[in-house]
Amino acid sequence: MKRALVCGAGGFIGGHLVKRLKSEGYWVMGVDIKDHEYVKTQADEFLKGDLRNQNFVKETFKYAYEEVYQLAADMGGAGYIFTGNYDADIMHNSGIINLNILEYAKSDKIGKIFYSSSACMYPEHNQLDPNNPKCSEDSAYPAAPDSEYGWEKLFSERIFLAFNRQYKLPVRVARFHNIFGPEGTWTGGREKAPAAMCRKVAEAPDNSSIEVWGDGKQTRSFLYIDECLEGVRRFMDSKEFTGPVNIGSEEMVSINQLAQMVMKISGKNLSINNIDGPQGVRGRNSDNKLIREKLNWEPSLPLTEGMTRTYKWINEQVQNSKLKGIK
Ligand code: NAD
Repeated sequence: MKRALVCGAGGFIGGHLVKRLKSEGYWVMGVDIKDHEYVKTQADEFLKGDLRNQNFVKETFKYAYEEVYQLAADMGGAGYIFTGNYDADIMHNSGIINLNILEYAKSDKIGKIFYSSSACMYPEHNQLDPNNPKCSEDSAYPAAPDSEYGWEKLFSERIFLAFNRQYKLPVRVARFHNIFGPEGTWTGGREKAPAAMCRKVAEAPDNSSIEVWGDGKQTRSFLYIDECLEGVRRFMDSKEFTGPVNIGSEEMVSINQLAQMVMKISGKNLSINNIDGPQGVRGRNSDNKLIREKLNWEPSLPLTEGMTRTYKWINEQVQNSKLKGIK
């Protein structure tokens, strides 16, 4: 039986990854500073603690693991990472987590280690035209991410690759592009655009409007969680290729189009009110040439299907919290 360590197992992607690994027959150690908010973990062992603390990291590496997945980060949507209000924490916390984990992962008890970087590390100057953004892996330099979150990701993917070169640590570095789905943060300020959109639509009375940040013409692509994990698992199973590689969808939409899609899914008659708010770059889309080439695979689930599943789950959360409010 293969052993895997999932750092960030109490979070959105980590929670789903634990389930995926269990379904494949792994023994899984989950680690996080908090329990998962929405589901009971399926990890065989779950250690709760702070990965900024070296002693705790040492404890998590008490076993030999064929695979380590490093997903823990100080993380949030545009309202968290693009306001500038949390930059010091974001850089310091995530930086130290990655440094600590690499220190212990370089022992010979580790098979491969996966690191989740982000499309936020791509330079802003290639993402000014919403209809024609450039995010091929080789466009990363000269570096100019538009957020400190992106700079930290760039630093950390470089240090993972440096450990690969100097200590022969088998690393797999992926750049995720907006992963979404059920069982992720949907309220409280750290939620990302797809979840925020679903919540706003679920909360809005029929024949009203929802607020959307910016002019709504900014573009993005969004990848459903199951597809993300398929990419991660295929990447981990691949030989030699360390990345960085994009794991994202090439189905680019404007933010207003995303809002309209959710309104249609809900069946409600709503309009959009575009207001000032943090937006990030003007345009971003995954470029899947490299993943097609290296893994002979790319995501294919239409955005509307993933959004339908996500809306259903968030609508349930909204209705349940309304009921609790009434009691
Ligand atoms: P998430 O916030 O749901 O999960 C991150 C987890 O890390 C959380 O459960 C958090 O408690 C944990 N964590 C934070 N600080 C910790 C600490 N000091 N010690 C222990 N645990 C700690 O985020 P997610 O969406 O699941 O993202 C997972 C990874 O993927 C992150 O590295 C994120 O930057 C990256 N990523 C995500 C997306 C996306 O769209 N969700 C896009 C690009 C990159």
